[in-house]
Amino acid sequence: MSATYLNEIVKTIQKAETILVATHIFPDPDALGSQLGLSNILEGLGKKVIRYSEEPASYLYNFLPESEKLVCELPDLSQIDCAIVLDCGDCLRLGKAMEALLTIHPMIVIDHHAGHQDFGDLRWVQSGRASTGDMVYELSKALQAEISLDAAHCLYAAIVADTGSFKYSSTTATTFTIAGALVARGVKPEEVATRLFDNFTESRLHLLQTVLATLELFADGKLAMITATQEMFARSGAASDDTESFINYPRSLVSVKVAVFVKEKEDAISISMRSKGSQYDVAEIARQLGGGGHRNAAGCKFCKGETLAEVREQIVALLLPLVEG
Ligand code: 5GP
Ligand code: MN
Repeated sequence: MSATYLNEIVKTIQKAETILVATHIFPDPDALGSQLGLSNILEGLGKKVIRYSEEPASYLYNFLPESEKLVCELPDLSQIDCAIVLDCGDCLRLGKAMEALLTIHPMIVIDHHAGHQDFGDLRWVQSGRASTGDMVYELSKALQAEISLDAAHCLYAAIVADTGSFKYSSTTATTFTIAGALVARGVKPEEVATRLFDNFTESRLHLLQTVLATLELFADGKLAMITATQEMFARSGAASDDTESFINYPRSLVSVKVAVFVKEKEDAISISMRSKGSQYDVAEIARQLGGGGHRNAAGCKFCKGETLAEVREQIVALLLPLVEG
């Protein structure tokens, strides 16, 4: 998007007194870090900010400064001058409050998902960007805002998480420049990495042990799948959040081009997919199943009572031609 458009977003923010900042449901560190970081920056500019979220922050991410300020009840929308929705590739991912949130105008949407489905009034969507966190950094520069240490922490965590610690192909020189500026602001990379990655409870590690034992390989190891059942959650005592990052284990196999994680939830079956390189577009597969995401990281949900076996069969049937093609 052009600089003029960013100017329009800046002007809209400058005019607003009360701003609601939201992101997608089940927020990951990029979503949450962008939401909390931008909210803090806007408050620094004298705005009244409401950090709306359907649920409180997962225990895995409540180290992010000001996560306790998330508001889970929708406020009186008549007092909101503007909404900013971050890291949300599809308005359906706004959750239960979607319809109410979409009545807020102007709505600014900032996102980096490749298959972004347009919504909102002012959109800054750049699919090549490594994270929404680094777009928020650029916005704060355009707003000539101070970036507090708390906000810097949030944005740095967002960038580290969405780039897989600067490993994914979306990582560019700009990513490092922005991350470098945040470190110069006082962020300690080791501290953020420890909170993001060395955060296992015993029950979570036991769940990982069980889930890794389900590993199945197809197409000479090009496709790998792991599965978590409700029974495994019950046995380990782990929570649904605890499967965060499990998908990285099948992805780490040398032979793997596409990794899939099938997770049985109470009311649905969720699918996480990861792929390596530009040849394997898992976002396209996710879209065919009503989901979305990025070329190399995407997901979808089955909510119509399909069995685990049916879902797994369907996923393998869709992915085999991709990896064998
Ligand atoms: P994850 O596997 O970490 O849950 O999600 C990977 C990516 O896929 C994220 O960028 C997320 O936004 C997207 N994604 C995951 N599940 C869904 C879904 O059900 N619908 C859509 N539209 N995107 C999803
Ligand atoms: Mn993101």
